Parts: sequence; structure tokens; C-alpha cells
Amino acid sequence: MLCPCGSELEYALCCQPLINGQKTANSPEQLMRSRYSAYATADADYLYRTYAKASQAQQNLEEIAQWAAMTKWLFLEIHHSSAIPQNADELPVVKFSAHYLLGNKYHKMTETSRFVLESGQWRYLDGDVSEFDEVREIKRNEPCPCRSKKKFKQCCGR
Ligand SMILES: [Zn+2]
Ligand SMILES: [Zn+2]
Repeated sequence: MLCPCGSELEYALCCQPLINGQKTANSPEQLMRSRYSAYATADADYLYRTYAKASQAQQNLEEIAQWAAMTKWLFLEIHHSSAIPQNADELPVVKFSAHYLLGNKYHKMTETSRFVLESGQWRYLDGDVSEFDEVREIKRNEPCPCRSKKKFKQCCGR
């Protein structure tokens, strides 16, 4: 299967080795993509362990798992990845939009995420949601919002 992150690479050659723990992300964007793929494959464990320590305490594995499972992840759009700052006080950011369905409601969430290096590994610290939720109901005969060019009822709306 193609990687959910939209790289057009095979999942096994893209985010899967990160999610399996065989590789670590070499950039904030790579970590962000792998976290999106972990949502798409409902791997709550990976999502939990890629939070920065400071953020992990506020996270609940069960809630992450529930949220990932009830959501149908459509695609990811990366708008911008900052360069790694020279100054250690500044954190790199990635701005993205996640497109997903909850039932037959289409959502788009745009977030600017901040990343931090902990013990040599990139971790997700937090994010500012700049645009929440263009919620729209998808009709059964409409084109599917996942961009498959199929009708919704024959694709993600099945
Ligand atoms: Zn990927
Ligand atoms: Zn679809």
C-alpha cells in the first residue's frame, strides 16, 4: 500500500519503519508525516511515544486510540516546514492540514506544530490550530473527498 502521508512511496519504505521503531525521523517533517500515518493506521502507541516528554503527561493512550479509530483519515497537506533553527531557543515548525471524515462529515484542520529534539530524536511538542474545521456533509453521490475520483458512496462513504 502507498504511505498514508501522501509521499507516493510504499508505506514499507516511508513511514512504517518509523512507526515500527526500526528507524527514527531525521527531520520534524518526517516525524509529522509518520504521526499522520500513525493516525491513519490507528497506532496510538507510536503517537503517544512521539510526544515530547512535557506534552506526554497530558496525553491519554486510550483517547488517542479512540480518536484515531473513529476518524477516517483522507489525506495530508504540508504547507511549510521551517529550517532547523541555529539558535537552540527556537523550535522548528511544520504547518499542515489534515483532511478527515467523521461519519459523513468532512473536516479540515490546519495546524502549525512545534518540534523539539529529545535525546537526539524529534518529538512533537504542541501545535496551534489556525483554522478548525471546515465541516461539510458529503452527499452519497458526490466525488469522494479523498481525491480517488470515485463517488463517496463507492469509496470512503461505504
Ligand atoms: Zn509516509
Ligand atoms: Zn474515498
